[in-house]
Amino acid sequence: MKRLLIASLCTIALSSFAFAEETDLVVVGSGGAGMSAALTAAQAGKKVIMLEKMPIIGGNTNRAEGGMNAARTLQQLEHGITHDSAMTMSLDAQKGGHYLNNPELTLALGENAKEAEAWMLSLGADFCHRMGRGGGQSVARGHGPCDGSAVGAHIMKLFYKTAKSIPGIEIRPSNKVTEVIVKDGKVAGVKVIDKDKKEYTIDSKAVVLATGGFGANAKMIESLRPEYKGFATTNHPGALGEGIDLGLRAGATLVDMREIQAHPTVVPVKGILISESMRGRGAYLVNQDGKRFINELLPRDIVAAGVLAQPTGKAWILIDNALVQKNKLAQGYIQQGLAVKGNNVEELAKGIGVPAANLKATM
Ligand SMILES: Cc1cc2nc3c(=O)[nH]c(=O)nc-3n(C[C@H](O)[C@H](O)[C@H](O)COP(=O)(O)OP(=O)(O)OC[C@H]3O[C@@H](n4cnc5c(N)ncnc54)[C@H](O)[C@@H]3O)c2cc1C
Repeated sequence: MKRLLIASLCTIALSSFAFAEETDLVVVGSGGAGMSAALTAAQAGKKVIMLEKMPIIGGNTNRAEGGMNAARTLQQLEHGITHDSAMTMSLDAQKGGHYLNNPELTLALGENAKEAEAWMLSLGADFCHRMGRGGGQSVARGHGPCDGSAVGAHIMKLFYKTAKSIPGIEIRPSNKVTEVIVKDGKVAGVKVIDKDKKEYTIDSKAVVLATGGFGANAKMIESLRPEYKGFATTNHPGALGEGIDLGLRAGATLVDMREIQAHPTVVPVKGILISESMRGRGAYLVNQDGKRFINELLPRDIVAAGVLAQPTGKAWILIDNALVQKNKLAQGYIQQGLAVKGNNVEELAKGIGVPAANLKATM
């Protein structure tokens, strides 16, 4: 009996030893934030394990379309945009956030975006300056692929390729972090559940929580902002805010949870976003009377409120052929069957069911 007991104790000790994994850094979440952290640490020689709960990597970053904002970049200067600065970018963000944002953080964003963009160029990004201001921008500062295609998918492909070429990063999709382990008041690792529902633990010197937002968690949004009940989302299905809970349980506090922004140009029901860069390049909004009702380059929440205030709660976004020919995103919307086409104003008015005389006057 005694021998049997000893034998089974050894088995337990051995099996927990087999799971005792150690690393320098665990990164939770494989979007742009997580990838940047993982690549930077691995480039500095650290051993990194990246955990992603979804079967594919990239989160909402895969879906970003319009552009990456950065001030005083080389590409801006090449386009003759010499009057932008980190402070101007910071002030634009603060104004868009109704001065509720933390000014130190908006300034850090303004100051660091340029280096982040330069870092991506050094990894091989095909980034051009996107001409045209985005909503809430006082200066045109969007950057993205030179053919006008979506920025997020491009960044994720680049990050994944880079991660594969650097030793030291292991990426584990379908592995969900369920707890951040805290020992003696210090973060010491994570608990994980893998695709076969097996639980395991990683001891880590540091943990980066890069778990993104909660835009696809309708209940959570509704509890914070009841007026958004029933809104469609453009977020990826994994954007459920679980990381917020992980942080809370590890002792973090929350700020600005109610600051949720509705995007003004989303195809109803389908949850497909029509990029802000369309408005930045001259697209404008008309209501069902064929009348323009707002300055399209005002901050998003103001334009969204303007759309919702229309009698139908909807608006048409008008783009012309000159934009379509130069822009892959716009071509994509048409290929997805999201657009109504007219060869002249009358045809278009008929197609979208607005009074032709009004649309003509608006144009
Ligand atoms: C349709 C759309 C268009 C956009 N366009 C733009 C744009 O043009 N320009 C711009 O700057 N921004 C844009 N954004 C916003 C931008 O995409 C996000 O701000 C950015 O991608 C967030 O990056 P992230 O790494 O923080 O989060 P994400 O990219 O969402 O990554 C977080 C990851 O963490 C994973 N995760 C969550 N919980 C766990 C867990 N417990 N364990 C393991 N993994 C977990 C998620 O599955 C996800 O993959 C857009 C967003 C959307 C939805």
